[in-house]
Amino acid sequence: MKTETEINTLLQFDHAHLVHPYTSMTNPLSVFLVERAEGCELELADGRRLVDGMSSWWAAVHGYNHPTLNAAINTQLSKMAHVMFGGLTHEPAITLAKQLLTLTPPALTKVFFCDSGSVAVEAAIKMAVQYWAAQARTEKCRLLSFRRAYHGDTFAAMSVCDPVTGMHTLFERVLNRQLFADAPQTAFRDDWNSNDIASVQALLAAHHHELAAVIIEPIVQGAGGMFFYSPQFLRELRQLCDQYKVLLIADEIATGFGRTGKMFACEHADIAPDILCLGKALTGGYMTLAATLTTTQLAETISSKGGAFMHGPTFMANPLACAVAAASLTLLINSPWQQRVLAIEQQMARELEPCRNSPVVADVRVLGAIGVVEMKKAVDMRTLQPRLVELGVWIRPFGRLIYLMPPFVISSEQLSVLTAAVNTVVGEISAMG
Ligand SMILES: *Cc1c(COP(=O)(O)O)cnc(C)c1O
Repeated sequence: MKTETEINTLLQFDHAHLVHPYTSMTNPLSVFLVERAEGCELELADGRRLVDGMSSWWAAVHGYNHPTLNAAINTQLSKMAHVMFGGLTHEPAITLAKQLLTLTPPALTKVFFCDSGSVAVEAAIKMAVQYWAAQARTEKCRLLSFRRAYHGDTFAAMSVCDPVTGMHTLFERVLNRQLFADAPQTAFRDDWNSNDIASVQALLAAHHHELAAVIIEPIVQGAGGMFFYSPQFLRELRQLCDQYKVLLIADEIATGFGRTGKMFACEHADIAPDILCLGKALTGGYMTLAATLTTTQLAETISSKGGAFMHGPTFMANPLACAVAAASLTLLINSPWQQRVLAIEQQMARELEPCRNSPVVADVRVLGAIGVVEMKKAVDMRTLQPRLVELGVWIRPFGRLIYLMPPFVISSEQLSVLTAAVNTVVGEISAMG
């Protein structure tokens, strides 16, 4: 614990000099000082303990300060923290790649490790473009994405984010112009509406000659609205991509490693992509690491004339990150994660249901360990965030969404603290009119 003076000194420096995600550089919203985290609780510097409803953005599926993951990092640290991946290799990377190839569809055989989700998307786009270039089809270099999509913050990734809610207006002149189909509309458990696929079908028919790939977040459109859509959309999209000879990139950075109730969201539709992006929960939330996987056929085409895949970050396949990722995957596979995620889904569905009757709520939806209360209007973060902290929870709403994605190891008592807090603030927002 820190004294009030110590806390204020640190927060004042933070306020003056540190830039937080998507905030004003001069007048940011207040932040909370975290001292430590353990299991499913964050401990603030003033001693308050908060139940974690966010898994640090999809990542900390085993909770914080996990002895097994700590040990994996420490063991690797005593050997080497990092070594370049050019001309050298190491067991942590090899072990992790083996695990990933066992878990993912058999057609995927090549693993490229990179430093963050956005970079995994950049690498995926490069693979797709290089695949066509290697066949002298350089005109096939555009991407087709979807409205409400989110694929990251770097430039190529931004170019395939939703053109309205993304950052297209700010960066219009620097972004590549991509194509956007209507977002999937049929909800995950609803009857399939075949009109859903019409927009992407029309775009593929008209533009396949200039398209390298379609990129999509399978089943869950995440940062663009937390919408869960019908697996049939993915099945039909896979068929269309084959028919029009356009590659399919699945961005499972958010959905990968069990979050939706399947190890990967593509499994809901029983499809395999040509390129797969993984990140976020890959290291159990310990370190930044991502991976782009592809098929033998893509690899052989890209390198058919001795060509190299043109990417190679300095900290590629960082041994500490690979070691903790390998330990995290072992932990996950040896845990009853499916039962845990199902139990979280059922409890959230039950305990968030009362929100549906509120006049300020537009929708309540739950899939796997993701629970969403969609409000009719954007929430006021200046008042809502401190109120949630007062209620003993770490929940970070955005826009019209108050959502939960707790660590898989959360207890039912802790989960009830989260859902009770959501019900409380929804009631308070409703009472304010
Ligand atoms: C978070 C996210 C990314 C970007 O990952 P970073 O590690 O933040 O760069 C890309 N795609 C999806 C679907 C994501 O949720």
